[in-house]
Amino acid sequence: NTVLTSAVVYPGQWLGMLGGGQLGRMFCHAAQSMGYKVVVLDPAQDSPAGTVAEKQVFAAYDDVKGLDELAALTRVVTTEFENVPAASLKQLSENCRVSPGAAAVAVVQDRIAEKAFIASQGIPVAPYAEVRSAADLEKAGQHLFPGILKAARLGYDGKGQARVANVQEALAAFESFGNVPCVLEAMLPLKEEISVVMARGFDGEVAVFPIGQNTHVNGILATTVVNPGLIAESIQHQAKQAAIKIAEGLNYFGVLCIEFFILDDNSLVANEVAPRPHNSGHYTMNACASSQFEQQVRVMAGMPLGSTQLRAPAIMLNILGDSWFHPETGAFAEPVWEKVLALPGVSLHLYGKSEARKGRKMGHVNVVHENFDTALAHARQISKILN
Ligand code: ADP
Ligand code: MG
Repeated sequence: NTVLTSAVVYPGQWLGMLGGGQLGRMFCHAAQSMGYKVVVLDPAQDSPAGTVAEKQVFAAYDDVKGLDELAALTRVVTTEFENVPAASLKQLSENCRVSPGAAAVAVVQDRIAEKAFIASQGIPVAPYAEVRSAADLEKAGQHLFPGILKAARLGYDGKGQARVANVQEALAAFESFGNVPCVLEAMLPLKEEISVVMARGFDGEVAVFPIGQNTHVNGILATTVVNPGLIAESIQHQAKQAAIKIAEGLNYFGVLCIEFFILDDNSLVANEVAPRPHNSGHYTMNACASSQFEQQVRVMAGMPLGSTQLRAPAIMLNILGDSWFHPETGAFAEPVWEKVLALPGVSLHLYGKSEARKGRKMGHVNVVHENFDTALAHARQISKILN
């Protein structure tokens, strides 16, 4: 059983997915519409991806037997889960073609390695210090304050982060994180947050999606707006070139997202890399010739990449569990979807999660319209209906 290198995997065959969340679910839909069968590895019953895949291996991400069971069913494996143990990808790579590979994932899972790698490519990152001990904080320069202390591993949606005004607050935050390795970053004056979602194939071919502008609420992505005229051409070009450089430098195969900050002086800073399709790329499902999930399928199957062409301006609105609760009384009620779906150019994507909880990502809405102002007006109406 030799590992495939550049061979094409044809529709009708199996694709393997590590992780059962919503990203895995949307991957399944893309794969199945192209005629592939998907086997998902995830420990949970009723997971968003497990319930739509043809098969599920019920096992933890680091379960050696479960991973072997997956590898026995499929020759190509990808992941939707940022914190998949690199060791699991390594084990799978003995029998399967794995995208992305363990080495690339290991770098971007660790903010210390990630920042050092990006900087080594000549791409600006926020001024930062590696923090492994209280002493590292005590000797951190004043230029890093006010700053943000971020745990090096396992952070997401603003979790594992603390805004700190001075060394004392940084020391307290470091202790509250359990003294785990961290980075301390200077707080930068952000004008915009943007992301570049792209795919890189096993032959080195790259396809970069149009750049999205992101807004966050309470650390969670709330909206992505895609209207190419909104960001200066030169900044878009710079961000796309930096993203390609990062993907190539990592020897990355698959779909990835690079978050950038545009600062008040219009300079560009790379923030972080997600080794998988990304929430800020969901607009591609309705606005682009191929979606980010279709690209993920194409890469792992060894197929040519799809077109990333934008068909019309788009706005993606995340739907959190909060939309099921009345903002004042807290009463539970199903959102009035018929009002949302009555608007032209609106597509609803729900992830099949059984229980709505506050702060939980339940789905998203894409608004696509040739007239950006119309799209914006519809998006505002939808957020009123959902809040
Ligand atoms: P994650 O997305 O994993 O939670 P990020 O590093 O992307 O972590 O940080 C979350 C958000 O915090 C960013 O989207 C941005 O709004 C803000 N942020 C992060 N780093 C900085 C910084 N150095 N300066 C200003 N704002 C920041
Ligand atoms: Mg982020």
